[in-house]
Amino acid sequence: MAYDNDNIFAKILRGEIPNTTVYEDEAVLAFNDIAPKTPVHVLVIPKRPYIDMDDFSANGSPEEIGHFFIKVGEIARSLGLHDGGYRVVTNNGENAGQIVPHFHVHIMGGQRIKEGSM
Ligand code: IMP
Repeated sequence: MAYDNDNIFAKILRGEIPNTTVYEDEAVLAFNDIAPKTPVHVLVIPKRPYIDMDDFSANGSPEEIGHFFIKVGEIARSLGLHDGGYRVVTNNGENAGQIVPHFHVHIMGGQRIKEGSM
């Protein structure tokens, strides 16, 4: 499957759709989810065009992957979530609930969930 340049996060990266930026550097953009499912719900995306976790982990360089996940942790800390707990979720593929075909992780926090629930 080829990367779809018209997906909504590609448009955000090109500045065609506004976003509420939480963090940005040369390789990573983090912004608030437009329909938050938890009190804090931030999406983190690489700027390069990876479709999903499978694509990113197979084709991203170790430096790129390392930088990305270091930033996920830093962003969660910057949001003050480390004490209260948070979830990092990625949906890989339509069957897993992926809607936007540009790799992203959800940082979700600000509420207590039932122990053991997924
Ligand atoms: P997925 O189901 O893992 O692909 O998650 C896609 C997420 O993108 C959902 O939580 C949506 O609410 C979110 N989303 C869709 N469009 C936008 C947007 O324009 N800005 C911010 N978040 C968006």
